[in-house]
Amino acid sequence: MARPKTGQTPPISFRPPAPVRDDFDARTQVAKRDRSDALIEAMHDWIKKQDRAGRVYITTDASDRYHATAACPRFQAGRHTGDERHPILGLTTETAAAARQTPCPECVKTEKS
Ligand SMILES: [Zn+2]
Repeated sequence: MARPKTGQTPPISFRPPAPVRDDFDARTQVAKRDRSDALIEAMHDWIKKQDRAGRVYITTDASDRYHATAACPRFQAGRHTGDERHPILGLTTETAAAARQTPCPECVKTEKS
């Protein structure tokens, strides 16, 4: 996934511990990688890890279903209704049940399936 053009999405700013930052910067320099591109890759990897672990689900403010992955076609269809792009909300099976959300039959593996 390509990085959005400047001004398209708000930037993220954070302060990692100095030893992690120094190590990261040294490695990106040797690998000739842009720092932001490497961090975006790390974010993708972490999301994939979360998807595999299956402990955290996602939904939108316009949905009554929760999904295991943003790659789910039903999630994508529900996220982009008309011109509006609904924000992604994270939840667990417990918070989903409390909000009367139901699992997506396509991407969420339940005890029954
Ligand atoms: Zn789904």
